[in-house]
Amino acid sequence: MPIRDDLRPYEPYGAPQLDVPVQLNVNENPYGPSKATADDIAESLRIAATDLNRYPDREAWALRTALASYLGHGLGPDAVWLANGSNEVMQQILQAFGGPGRTAASFTPTYSMYPEYARNTHTRWITGRRADDFTFDVDAALALIAAEQPDVVLLASPNNPTGESLSLESVRAVCDAAPGIVVLDEAYAEFRRPGTPTALSVLEDYPRLIVTRTMSKAFAFAGGRLGYLAADPAIVDALRIVRLPYHVSTVTQTVALAALRHADEMLARVAELRATRDETAQWLREQGFQVVDSDANFVLFGTFADRHAVWQAVLDHGVLIRETGPDGWLRVSVGTPEEMGAFRDALTAVVATAR
Ligand code: PMP
Repeated sequence: MPIRDDLRPYEPYGAPQLDVPVQLNVNENPYGPSKATADDIAESLRIAATDLNRYPDREAWALRTALASYLGHGLGPDAVWLANGSNEVMQQILQAFGGPGRTAASFTPTYSMYPEYARNTHTRWITGRRADDFTFDVDAALALIAAEQPDVVLLASPNNPTGESLSLESVRAVCDAAPGIVVLDEAYAEFRRPGTPTALSVLEDYPRLIVTRTMSKAFAFAGGRLGYLAADPAIVDALRIVRLPYHVSTVTQTVALAALRHADEMLARVAELRATRDETAQWLREQGFQVVDSDANFVLFGTFADRHAVWQAVLDHGVLIRETGPDGWLRVSVGTPEEMGAFRDALTAVVATAR
């Protein structure tokens, strides 16, 4: 294949999609929409279907308006942008603000797609490290930023796969130091502990700060593929240059708008999922594992001499978790109480055999 030389070594990215009873590997919300919400989505789509001969609203204005009001913080639709998942939002950010001769930076362990956006956009990719306990090391980050002057800094808060949220002081320190764009990836924002601030609250002070969000996680809408961001309208205008025309289909816009009308219901299980997360972390600690405190809907635990063997053995019990992050660690998404029971049983059986 005459594929680009730099792409030759790669496999397509993606967690295994396996047909097993308990799926706790991609941080989805385990609770789907109710029948009433599903009916509203279907009815909205039935009405929109008669217009499918037309291209969608290229600016997705109605959806951006609804997302702005969902976010609050005085944001208007001109300060909101969207795409097919926050993955696509972030790739557009690197298309507009990265590119040949430019540098993007992040701090590992962090979300494994970041280097792929950089690779796809020919952006130089550099990483600093988090502290040994995986917390964000502000001084080390500021030193890297000072030395490398990255055009884009990508920070996930809560971070995937570790779960830590950044303090507003850290966000401000990075924004003050960074010469270019700072992206705060808040895919898991709704799972934060009450009282943990969002970077939306400092957006006004930093015209080069972008806060990305997604409907895939707490909002229980991963299949809808809708990611979005809040930023200065000038940033949104820059992204409109690189987006493909009509990139968000009428189908996506329609179903996302319908789901947003039911936001309370879509988010109703977040408190329960937080509680299940904390119980899962506590149980893992009681079993003698190391566990990272998480503000998200997953828990990173370890360590295992052969994590692949543990992952496979848990899978053999019908429970799919994720082999990701630092060597020796595994990540489990928070599911229903029944699913977490199956996870506990599987892990207990696996560890008993191994010991
Ligand atoms: N950011 C982080 C930190 C994530 O974990 C994920 C999903 N795994 C995403 C962004 C992308 O999510 P989506 O494209 O579904 O919005």
